[in-house]
Amino acid sequence: MTMNAHSTLPPRPRGAKSAAPKGPRTGLYAARTLLLGSENAFRIGPQIKALEDQGLKVVKCNLGEPDFPLAPYIADEVKRQIDLGLTHYCDPQGILPLREAVARTVSERRGIEVTPDRVVVFPGGKPPIGLTQQVYCDPGDEVVYPSPGFPIYESFTTYLGARPRPLHLREEAGFSFSGRELSPLVNSRTRVIILNFPSNPTGGTVTRGQLENIAEVILRKAPANARVYSDEIYEDILFDGNRHLSIASLPGMAARTIIVSGVSKSYAWTGGRVGWAVLPTAEEATVFKNLNINYFSCIPAYNQMGAKMALESPLSRGTIERMCESFRQRRDVMLEGLNAIGGIRCLKPGGAFYLFPNISGMCENLGAVEAHRRLAPGDRARTSPSTLVQMFLLWRYQVATMDRRSFGRIGSEGMHYLRLSIATGIDDLRAGLVRIRAAAADPSGFRAFIREGKHLW
Ligand code: PMP
Repeated sequence: MTMNAHSTLPPRPRGAKSAAPKGPRTGLYAARTLLLGSENAFRIGPQIKALEDQGLKVVKCNLGEPDFPLAPYIADEVKRQIDLGLTHYCDPQGILPLREAVARTVSERRGIEVTPDRVVVFPGGKPPIGLTQQVYCDPGDEVVYPSPGFPIYESFTTYLGARPRPLHLREEAGFSFSGRELSPLVNSRTRVIILNFPSNPTGGTVTRGQLENIAEVILRKAPANARVYSDEIYEDILFDGNRHLSIASLPGMAARTIIVSGVSKSYAWTGGRVGWAVLPTAEEATVFKNLNINYFSCIPAYNQMGAKMALESPLSRGTIERMCESFRQRRDVMLEGLNAIGGIRCLKPGGAFYLFPNISGMCENLGAVEAHRRLAPGDRARTSPSTLVQMFLLWRYQVATMDRRSFGRIGSEGMHYLRLSIATGIDDLRAGLVRIRAAAADPSGFRAFIREGKHLW
């Protein structure tokens, strides 16, 4: 088997043994390397660039990063710390001033008691996902994660030989869930249960009642050595008076929950690469610290001081509120615009900066379901009707979106959705709506696009 750097391989069938070679392996790559997925939001970049190089303007609804600049008071603090010489190796667990700030903020906002020795700092909110699975899962152990969900949840599960147990979020339930949906997936082999509210890619949020119900199932059914991984990276991006709720705030849950957040979304600072986790115990934090030592030693101390400033400055509240208000305005424009297009139906997201429209009708109208059915079996397994629409929108109408398959593949067949990020200017979004409307009414263009052969990636 040849290595496919973008891992378009189909997921390993449930219960299948890993492809352990009998004799010495002749292929270059270890079997697990072939199982690693990817994050398509990064993969689509070169295709956008190719279009831009042709002089075309692409509306970028693919990006998972706020399009706002880093606030000057945070940028100034980073520069100041560089000038002060904070440019050497530092504590692999995260510098104490930042861990203290995280412990204080998390304690206050979640009504729990967190000490700095339970905080570990990482290069962003992404690394603790894979590290958590490494720390708690042996091959065959089970990971429950939302699907659609951030793709790294599924990617690492298969990579480590753990057993993926996707919790399929239903549109009818507002892409949220409660204990009833979770319960059948939890058993004595469960080691990690991933929650993500507000959610990428759906913008789904959770009510206190649902969260209590989820907690009740976990306390009753999950083994004591299972951990809840609560990905709260969108904690500050909420609309319509929604307030962030963390499962760790509920009785009995802090002792089992890993709370994860960071500066990427709240402070529009994806390039800062500062994220953190609060572990249930200091002992577990030490295990993660040792992984940090093994992987990357530490992350830049000056950025960590910037993160401390972000968490503690009285200016941050206003900065976040202004960003959320922009997102809300854009959400409302996009929601109305999308729902006015035949074949598209979109729920109102309560948080994050994504819309996740159902495009079943559009797939049918364009002939994408039929086109997918007619593909050669190998190609068919690598794509989906919504992926074909994603490619059509990109190449023919220059709107970059992400398909349903980019957010967990297992069991995603027959689900026709796109993720549209609203982290792009309102004028671009309006232009994007015009283009999507035109694309949705262009079945002959779609057929020509398929004949042209640019529909696979
Ligand atoms: N979790 C979720 C749900 C995300 O959407 C993202 C970023 N798109 C991350 C984690 C990773 O964030 P970071 O850039 O801080 O690594």
